[in-house]
Amino acid sequence: MENPQISLTIRNVSKTYANGVHALSNVTLDIPRGMYGLLGPNGAGKSTLMRTLATLQEPDEGSIHLGDIDVVRQKEEVRQTLGYLPQEFGVYPKVSAEEMLDYFAVLKGITQRASRKEVTESLLKQTNLWDKRKQKLGGFSGGMKQRFGVAVALLGNPKLLIVDEPTAGLDPAERVRFLNLLSEVGENSVVLLSTHIVEDVSELCTNMAIINKGQILLQANTQQAVAELEGRIWRKLTDKSNLPALEQEHQVISAKLLSGRTMVHIYSEENPGNGFDLALPDLEDVYFSTMTGNYGQPQKVKEEVQL
Ligand code: ADP
Repeated sequence: MENPQISLTIRNVSKTYANGVHALSNVTLDIPRGMYGLLGPNGAGKSTLMRTLATLQEPDEGSIHLGDIDVVRQKEEVRQTLGYLPQEFGVYPKVSAEEMLDYFAVLKGITQRASRKEVTESLLKQTNLWDKRKQKLGGFSGGMKQRFGVAVALLGNPKLLIVDEPTAGLDPAERVRFLNLLSEVGENSVVLLSTHIVEDVSELCTNMAIINKGQILLQANTQQAVAELEGRIWRKLTDKSNLPALEQEHQVISAKLLSGRTMVHIYSEENPGNGFDLALPDLEDVYFSTMTGNYGQPQKVKEEVQL
């Protein structure tokens, strides 16, 4: 409503750490308003990208724009309009939620008492912590702490909210509540959710990217990416001992234990026979087939060849 045009544009961003690790290689992404999922395994480069977007570190190469703000050069301007919820969010255990939020609001530059009261009250209500506002943060559950982190991150009405691996350690109900909250925020801002949990992305993110070893392997509309795989994912319940032979013969993208047996998913554009049934693809299939090089990259290569 307020920022209808806001979007984040990342162009050819690379970062090599002093130890020689290429944490980001030529990353290019277009991130529109709404919830965007950045999915990848540990060590993929997600936090490096998040910290770079949050102006905590600089890329070696490339450019980043939030609307018309140059994120690399105009750090102060970005910080004015950025909310960042890091993986580990430290709080003072003996302070109440209300006092702590009020304190962060002062730091954010909301110096007028009356407007601060208004802002903190509205954020505590939005994050469903109003009833708990007098409680000390030390007694908060994991989910409450995360929601409090969102309240802090939302001070100053950011155009960009960055959330790094937020659902680890939340119980299922807390997780749903937390993700719904983010999705509400996404109605007016860019919300970038970095995670290694496929369900976090499949349930809420309209658009997504898959990153591995510092490279973007796939950038897509989440539903379209799943639809693209229709007719290409086949499954079979088998014994674990058959797995090596199946791997020789097929493009195995995942093998999961299912009540003592192994559910194997393979990628094949034609019926592979051999007792495989057509599976209804989901985002996990997109993720694994991209990570195993069966999807995403080959498509990209095709596009490049066409050009
Ligand atoms: P993710 O958040 O996806 O787990 P990171 O961005 O934390 O990935 O890490 C990407 C790669 O960069 C990893 O190989 C990691 O070990 C390395 N790395 C991260 N931070 C640093 C650093 N400050 N110095 C050197 N290497 C780092």
